[in-house]
Formats: sequence, structure tokens, C-alpha cells
Amino acid sequence: MAKTLEDSAFLRIDSVVKEFGDFRAVDQVSLDIAKGEIFALLGSSGCGKSTLLRMLAGFESPTSGRIVLNGQDLAGKPPYERPVNMMFQSYALFPHMTVWDNIAFGLRRDGLPSAEITARVDEMLRLTQLGKLAKRKPHQLSGGQQQRVALARSLAKRPQLLLLDEPLGALDKKLREATQIELVNIIETVGVTCVMVTHDQEEAMTMASRIAVMSEGRFLQVGSPSDIYETPTTRFVADFIGNVNLADGTITVDEADHVHVQCADYTHYIGHGITGYLGQPVTVAVRPEKIHLSKDRPENTPGDMNRVAGKVKEMSYFGDTTLYHLELASGARLKVSVENDSRDRQGALTWGDQVWAHWLPSSQVVLTQ
Ligand code: ATP
Repeated sequence: MAKTLEDSAFLRIDSVVKEFGDFRAVDQVSLDIAKGEIFALLGSSGCGKSTLLRMLAGFESPTSGRIVLNGQDLAGKPPYERPVNMMFQSYALFPHMTVWDNIAFGLRRDGLPSAEITARVDEMLRLTQLGKLAKRKPHQLSGGQQQRVALARSLAKRPQLLLLDEPLGALDKKLREATQIELVNIIETVGVTCVMVTHDQEEAMTMASRIAVMSEGRFLQVGSPSDIYETPTTRFVADFIGNVNLADGTITVDEADHVHVQCADYTHYIGHGITGYLGQPVTVAVRPEKIHLSKDRPENTPGDMNRVAGKVKEMSYFGDTTLYHLELASGARLKVSVENDSRDRQGALTWGDQVWAHWLPSSQVVLTQ
């Protein structure tokens, strides 16, 4: 018999609600996570992501709904009885203990035989490449090294589920980027299922195999990083993830059966002979890198392509790309990202240049919410 998603769910979050008094922090969320997945709960401050993580850890109980891990309902189980370990943003390392003792702490508390403790701590030190630092105290370590000790300590107990609360929040940007990859490598080597919480979309995109974008206690969209980036299903998600141009308008059809979205700033061509949504308000989302620039008006059959004239108002150089802010005749802005090594040498554009921006209908997403 074919395996259904139901069978393959290692962690099941089923219609979970959490209320604090009359405030609903988590509002009826459901999710299946497969074994070995690295899953990110992504959202801005107050969206309920930490409350959901705390329910997985057992620090909070759902007001209603179920959490099932590896076939076991976790209802009523205190944190120490769950096969779950949480790594906090602050790392919470014991300052007076060495790296070795920090990693061994939970194993000693569980009363494991000392040979087993030694084997596991050594394995973790090897995995996190901390062997040479085993005798140091936390204050003698860099932020990145402390983070690896915290991870080693969380993994030493071989949890079935690893929870990461803003795992890299305490690190500066450059170190954070390097550490993201390191962390993923270690988690994948161990094969542990992982749920992380972050407000940093780049962190979620780099580390997670799937992401849930949360707002006001709900999941707005769940999908792979590329799904969420390429095909956002709501205006909020399109705006929250990456850079985007958003234009609100109404769907119209001309006498040649071409469907357009009539916006205040320009007309978006979305296709031929499409029915539905007529007269409806929609939002068109276009990523800046999907738009091309040319100094001359592009010669295409009218209706094939979106094109709009503008003036370069601002430009930000990022090395591999330049982000241009065009001012359109209406006064609206359009962001266009151009690769600096592209053969059409758009890098040669400068402030005040008159240009044409153009993109294919297939490069935009029409959102009905
Ligand atoms: P942040 O990134 O700032 O931690 P978050 O998305 O993790 O935000 P939560 O900590 O889950 O958000 O909080 C969600 C909402 O629930 C917030 O409005 C918060 O004030 C509220 N909340 C959380 N814990 C409690 C509590 N113990 N009592 C009352 N309200 C709470």
C-alpha cells in the first residue's frame, strides 16, 4: 500500500490552539513534519512562533489540539519526559563548567554509565570540532564556539526532536552566515528532526528544508524556501520574504481578450483568454531580479510583455548585483536587480538615466488576497 503523508509524519501538530486569557497566541495550527526534516517557523515578533516551540518542548500546554511525536501523544508529558531537547538563543551554558562537563551534564543527570558518557561526549566533540577546546570554560570561547557547545549538549542526549530558538541570534552577521551551514551539516549528520524558530528570513531560507510563515498565530504558507519565494500565496508572504514589487489593481480584459491588471502606476499583462477574477481586486508581485532593463523601448508584440518607462533614482551596489530604484511617470517606485557581470552591461547605468523595465507575465505572481 502506498505510504500516505499521515504515515510518514514523524511530528504531527494537529489543530493546536494556545490562549493566554482571552488572547489567542496560536490559532488552530496543523502541520506534519517528516523524520530528519529541518523545519523553520518564521515570523515577526509576537506572531506566536516561540509559543508553538514551547508547546513542543512541554514548557506550555496547548489549550486544545494534539502534538504527536513518533506515534506518541505528548499531552501531559513534562519537558524532561519528552524525547525532545531545546537549544536556547542564550545557549544557557554553565559558566563554571568546562566544555566537556557542559556537554556531559544532561547525560550525568540521567545516570548514564560513565563509559557511555565519555563515548557520547567524545563523539559530540568530534562532530562539532570542539575536541581541542574541551577543557575550556565558556568565557574562553568565541560566540560561534559557544553556540557549537550548546548544540553538542543538546544532541548528546540523542533527542528525537531538536528545537532551536533563534539559534544564531547572538552572533554577528558574518559569523551567522558561516555558522548556518555548519549547523545544518551537524544536524544532517546526526539525522535528528529539527524545528527552529527565527524572525530572520535568510536564516530560514538557508537552513530549513521547509518553512511555515506565521502571522497572528496562524500559518499563512508552508512550503520549501523556493516555493515560498517563487510562488507566495498572499501579499503578506510576498512582502515578508525577500525583495519584491507589489502593485494593487483590478483585473480587466480588452477587446483582444488580453487580461490585464489595471494598477495606479502601470498595467500588468497577465495573459490571453484567461477567465475568472474579472473586476476583482488583486495584487501583482514581481521580484526585482525578474525585471530586465534596457535603454531602448523593447520591441515586442504589445501584450506579450510588461514594460514601463522610468528614471534611475537610486542605486545600491552589492558586488554581484546592483539594485536600481526606478521612478515611474506616476511617481511610484520599481525595484530592479541586475547582475553586474551581465553581458548587456546594465552596470553602466547611472542616476537620472531614462530606462525601460520589462518582464514576462510568467515572472509575476497574481495574488487574490
Ligand atoms: P518573539 O520573536 O518576539 O519572541 P514570537 O513570535 O515568538 O515573538 P510569542 O513569544 O510566541 O511570539 O508570543 C506570541 C504572543 O503571545 C505575543 O503577543 C505575546 O505577548 C503573547 N504571550 C506569550 N506568552 C505569554 C504569556 N505567558 N502570557 C500572556 N501572553 C503571552
